[in-house]
Amino acid sequence: MKFSNLLIPTLKEAPSDATLPSHIYLIRGGFIQGVGSGLYNFLPLGKMVLDRVRNVVKEELDASGAQEVSLGFVTPASLWVESGRFEKYGKELLRFKDRKDNDFVLGPTHEEMMVNLVKQSVKSYKQLPLNLYQINLKFRDEIRPRFGLMRGREFLMKDGYSFHSSEEDMKREFSLMEETYKKIFTRLGLDFRVVDADSGAIGGTGSKEFMVLADSGEDTIVVCKSCDYGANIEAAKSMPYICEEEAPEANFAKFNTPNVKTIDELSNFFKVNPYYLIKAVAKKALYDGEREEIVLFFLRGSDELQETKALNSINANDLIDISSDELEEIGLVAGFMGPLGLPNNIKIVFDNSLIGGTHLICGANEKDYHFVGLDLELDKDAIVDDIVSVKEGDKCIHCGGNLVYTKGIEVGHIFQLGTRYSQPLKAEFLDENGKTKPFVMGTYGIGVSRLLAAIIEQHHDEKGCIWTKESSPFDVCVIVSNAKDEKQNEIALKIYHELKAKNINSLFDDRNERFGFKMKDYELIGVPYAVIVGKKVEEGVVEIVSRDGNIAKEINISNIIEAVAEIV
Ligand code: ATP
Ligand code: MG
Repeated sequence: MKFSNLLIPTLKEAPSDATLPSHIYLIRGGFIQGVGSGLYNFLPLGKMVLDRVRNVVKEELDASGAQEVSLGFVTPASLWVESGRFEKYGKELLRFKDRKDNDFVLGPTHEEMMVNLVKQSVKSYKQLPLNLYQINLKFRDEIRPRFGLMRGREFLMKDGYSFHSSEEDMKREFSLMEETYKKIFTRLGLDFRVVDADSGAIGGTGSKEFMVLADSGEDTIVVCKSCDYGANIEAAKSMPYICEEEAPEANFAKFNTPNVKTIDELSNFFKVNPYYLIKAVAKKALYDGEREEIVLFFLRGSDELQETKALNSINANDLIDISSDELEEIGLVAGFMGPLGLPNNIKIVFDNSLIGGTHLICGANEKDYHFVGLDLELDKDAIVDDIVSVKEGDKCIHCGGNLVYTKGIEVGHIFQLGTRYSQPLKAEFLDENGKTKPFVMGTYGIGVSRLLAAIIEQHHDEKGCIWTKESSPFDVCVIVSNAKDEKQNEIALKIYHELKAKNINSLFDDRNERFGFKMKDYELIGVPYAVIVGKKVEEGVVEIVSRDGNIAKEINISNIIEAVAEIV
């Protein structure tokens, strides 16, 4: 294609809200255009990249045996009511009514719709297994849409759902999807890690995320330096920690601790390792609909509460902070809270590491007092769970190696769903013995439009994008240095036509602009290779360069097509 015919509105400046390279360059390079918070138009170049990425996803999924379908974007709310998610999904779900006052939602994910589709057409185990996917728009009214395509409100997702007659067969497909996803992200030229994940609002057990490693990633992931263990911080586990420092020896007693409130202050006051202090974190938990309650989470002073784990431990929808005034109203004193002598009506959760804890110091639920010498005895029915964040330097549960943090962009998520949706939606089949059973399901997502941002976060420099081979809008760009020079133009055009004849997808920058200006656009747009036709055509030579700077060489015009064919 000729540059002069294409709509590529490159810009000198990015909008002021763009902070990430991918956001800046996708806008400046004329790939996308913002239309509202978290809403984007794809311009010709952006659409080309989107289609290429989408194709890689489609080819690999089709090769795995999955079948593509396309479901409605507007979905009847009744299905969401049946699954129990109409309320539970929260404000990200965009609900609306039609003229007859029927409720609808814009699909943020399609479990309900897909279960409904299969329920109507699959009746027997003989029709299983089945893996159906689509690559379609999703809408989530995200609380903080940001970073361009990274976290939009409207975005393109590949969502797949598999249906099985047994748990075992679902697990087989889950592994097949893991392998398929690895092929997809490898083809796209991404450096990624597969990590253990929390299952979030979709439910189910056993889930893995595919994280593109990038400093700008919104997710913190924990990785082992010695083996290939990796997990989202929301799901990461480490070996139980045992403090080597001596425990404070004291008989159980109430101790005056005037104004000593924080873990640091307490640790200094008693000269003990924070491991021996009980930290209390008070939150207000919100459940389906309107119900709320106060929850106290108790953990070791050396640990931090992990909010997703905390949320899961009590099956709540959200946790919000409480002010010290609110605490006072129910008889709690911020800075002096502990597990003994609490007012009624407060839910309490203990971290695993407190089981059997001795020689502890905790708040006495009285201003300016702490208890010392506490040996914790937990009620049988106390909630005890893993509610703390893994820390850097903790030991790996698999190999004992050191765990460290890194940042990742979540580009894919696969879940073992089980019967979480088939049961409430009564999606059943007849097994070999003529018995009715709910489908056992898996579900598999890829953020297709987010992938464009992830690719650029990993592949860019200070001048612009550097697309990977299978994501680039073009294989090569032919740039004529001086468009007014007839010879240069003629050779460049010839090269462009010959490349086209060889099925090499080329962009011909034929614009009557300064060479420097065209090179700036080339670098911003980021096609992996360019053939530069300049003064040296007189000597029968053109130049071939790679956008990443690794290749820059002169080549005889007679060999140029072959040379390009070889590198692309
Ligand atoms: P996140 O934690 O980033 O919000 P999620 O866990 O809500 O993601 P899933 O429900 O698993 O995401 O959706 C599948 C995939 O869709 C994600 O792995 C991600 O790549 C992509 N995705 C999710 N939300 C968005 C969004 N707001 N904009 C672009 N892509 C998204
Ligand atoms: Mg989300």
